[in-house]
Order: sequence, then structure tokens, then C-alpha cells
Amino acid sequence: MSNQENNTISSDQHGGCLDLCIDSTVSWPNGHELKVFFMNPSEYSQELITIVKLAAKTWETYANIKIIFVNDQESSDIRISLQSTQGDGVRGWSVLGRHCESRRYDEPTMSVSVGRLAHRKAIRSVALHEWGHSLGIIHEHSSPACQIVWDRDVVISHCGGNLHKANTNYFFRAEENKTRYSPFDPESIMIYNIKQIFMKNYIETRRGEDLSDTDKQWAGIFYPFPGTIQ
Ligand SMILES: [Zn+2]
Repeated sequence: MSNQENNTISSDQHGGCLDLCIDSTVSWPNGHELKVFFMNPSEYSQELITIVKLAAKTWETYANIKIIFVNDQESSDIRISLQSTQGDGVRGWSVLGRHCESRRYDEPTMSVSVGRLAHRKAIRSVALHEWGHSLGIIHEHSSPACQIVWDRDVVISHCGGNLHKANTNYFFRAEENKTRYSPFDPESIMIYNIKQIFMKNYIETRRGEDLSDTDKQWAGIFYPFPGTIQ
């Protein structure tokens, strides 16, 4: 999931059925303290940093993960690069879960690019989505529970003929024995809002501006709080 994603929720690209899916091979230890560093924060508006921080705290409400913001880049687990762009788009990518540990300390593990005219809610949606990846959660449409049948030619064309991008962002389907997953959730923050023409069997996806009820529930199943009955 380290590929650049088009995460503009106001359009059609980004966004699960009641489904949230974690890659068990890269999830963090339960209760882990994630140290987060903002790269060159003075270049960005304080409001943008606050939105990204609050998105992290939203996941922390439902998952037993501690997210702390540090000034020491070398000891950080997650490094966030924020960029300002033209227009109203919001794009992002994030390294998946513990794959962050194999990145050099001077490299970002998450990126959020924000247009000068971007709406606050769109930024929050993308930030929540990328934080999900940082916790090891994959795209809802990559879950073993996803029943979408892709119209491959249409999707590949949408990706500019880039088969690697189409595979990574759309066609990839995770293996059951490497994941834990809920039933499919078309409202997950981890799904794209997928165009009807991309599918041979239309399943409406409705990614919103916040975690879905299933996202909240399954975040606590992947990362359970002490005393929680699973
Ligand atoms: Zn994504």
C-alpha cells in the first residue's frame, strides 16, 4: 500500500461491505506504542497537522494502540510527510503496518498531499484511511470477503495502462490465512468509492468521512483492549 493512491473522496477513486481486514503478518503488537514524527512540520499549517493528529486519535479510541508524537526522528516508527498542492484534491499513501520498520529513519512512511482548496472533511477521510494502513489494515476491496468482480480492462485503462498500479490498488485479494477480517463492509474508511463501470457485479461502495461502525468494532477486535471479550 505504499503506492500513491488517489484518495479524493469527492471523486470516485478511494475509499469495504461490513468488512475490515488486517494483514496479520504486519500488525503491531497489541497495546504497542507507536512513535510518530512529522517531517518538516514548520512547512505546513497547524490546522493540517491537527487534522492528521486527530485522525490518529480516532483510531486510538477504538484500537488498543498508543500513538504518541515525538521530536526524535531516529527513534520514530512512523514518519509523516505533508505536501501542499494546487486545487482541491487530497492524496495519500502509507506503508502497511510493521513494514514501516524496514524503512530508513530519514524516509517517510506516510504521505498526505493536500490541495490548497481541499475541504477539511476530505483531508480527515484520507488521513483516517492512511492511518488504517499504518496499523496494518488493508483495503476493504482487497479483503478475502470482498465479492467484487472487476472489469479488468476498464480498471487498467483508468490506471493509465499501469498494470502494477491496477493490481496494487484494485485487483489484489489477500489470502485468508494471512488476514483477519470481518464480513465485507462497503462503508469502510478503507475502501475506495468505486465506479460502477469498474465492476461486472455492481456493489455500491459508500466510503464516508469517518470510520464506519464496522471499522470501529473490528479495530477493537484486531487490537483488543484489556478485559475485552472477543
Ligand atoms: Zn489505501
